[in-house]
Amino acid sequence: MKKIYLLKHTDPSYAATTDFIQADPHNVSDGPNCLACGGPIGMFRWAPPLRAELETWGKRFGDMAFGPGESILISERFKDLWLKSGLIGLEGFEPVEIVKVVRRGKRFKDAPPAYFRVVAQRSQAALDFVASGMQWVEPPSPPCDVCREGGIKKGWERIVLEEEPRENICTVRGFGEVLVDEHFKRFVEENGLLNCPLVPAEEAAHWF
Ligand SMILES: [Zn+2]
Repeated sequence: MKKIYLLKHTDPSYAATTDFIQADPHNVSDGPNCLACGGPIGMFRWAPPLRAELETWGKRFGDMAFGPGESILISERFKDLWLKSGLIGLEGFEPVEIVKVVRRGKRFKDAPPAYFRVVAQRSQAALDFVASGMQWVEPPSPPCDVCREGGIKKGWERIVLEEEPRENICTVRGFGEVLVDEHFKRFVEENGLLNCPLVPAEEAAHWF
C-alpha cells in the first residue's frame, strides 16, 4: 500500500502558516446525503461569491491556506503545477477574492498571491476504525457501512485505511480529515510548495 499522510492545518515551523476565514456575509450549502442511509456527508460547503480574509503567522504566504469547513485555498502557483501534474483528488479551483490580510508573524510587505478554493474529493476507500484505534464518545447509531458517518469521536491512535485510495488527496468514508499519499508529498517537496504540513498516518494520533 502506498504511504498515507494526514494534511495538518498548522505547520510546526510557522514559516508560511496561512489561515483564512470567509468574509461576511457568506453563503454555505449543505453537503450531499448518503444514498444508503440518507444522512448528511461531510461539512457545509462555502458557496460563491468566495471572499476571504487571510491571517499569516510566518514571513511568507502559504501555497495552501486552511480555514473552517471543507474548503482549502491554494495559490495560483500550486494550481498551475497541480493541473499539469497528473495527480487527482482536488475539485473546485474557483478564484477567491482576498479582502483583508492580517499579519500576525513578520510584517512582510508582499501582496498575497492569487488564491483558488479547492475541496478534497471523497474517496471510496474507508477508514479501518478498529486498526486506527478509534475511540468514541458516542458510536454511530445506527451505523451505516456505506458512509460510516455519525457518532461523536473521542480520538484515534493512528490512521489505517481498509484499502488504498485511488486519489492522491482525499477524505475517506468514516473520516473527514484530509489525507494525501506519497505522490502528493513528492509533488509538494519537488516544487517547494509552502504550508502543506504532512504527518505520517501511523503517527497521526489525535484526541479531541
Ligand atoms: Zn450512510
